[in-house]
Amino acid sequence: MKVYSKSIRVKTSSSVEFVNITDKVVEAIRESGVKDGLVNIFVPHTTVGLYINEDESGLKRDIDTVLSKLVPQGAGYMHDRVDYNAHAHIRSTIISPSITIPLNGHRLGLGTWQSIFLAEFDGPRERRLIIQVIGV
Ligand code: ZN
Repeated sequence: MKVYSKSIRVKTSSSVEFVNITDKVVEAIRESGVKDGLVNIFVPHTTVGLYINEDESGLKRDIDTVLSKLVPQGAGYMHDRVDYNAHAHIRSTIISPSITIPLNGHRLGLGTWQSIFLAEFDGPRERRLIIQVIGV
């Protein structure tokens, strides 16, 4: 069994931004040489998350709209006394810091319309992304 690990930087350019990172994951799989196994993607941050869905501009705005309605900025959160970004922490908790995807025959097991996104909720910042490819 092989374990290939890669850490990369992703720069975001606005306060909320959904960045398609699928190509970076595909590149890591190619570098790993792993044929069958699992790919795990992880962000070691508290105000960013990962999700899988369609890369369509209207849908990205819809996801932002819904998350903003669920968790509006400055809604009297306790953490805002510290650094006024509680909304970003809570939104990143609702999605997840980690995603695992099957890898079969060197191919990422995503569906036709699925892409992997890094969801920035407190940008712009430089974020770290850890990609691990585990298998044979
Ligand atoms: Zn904070």
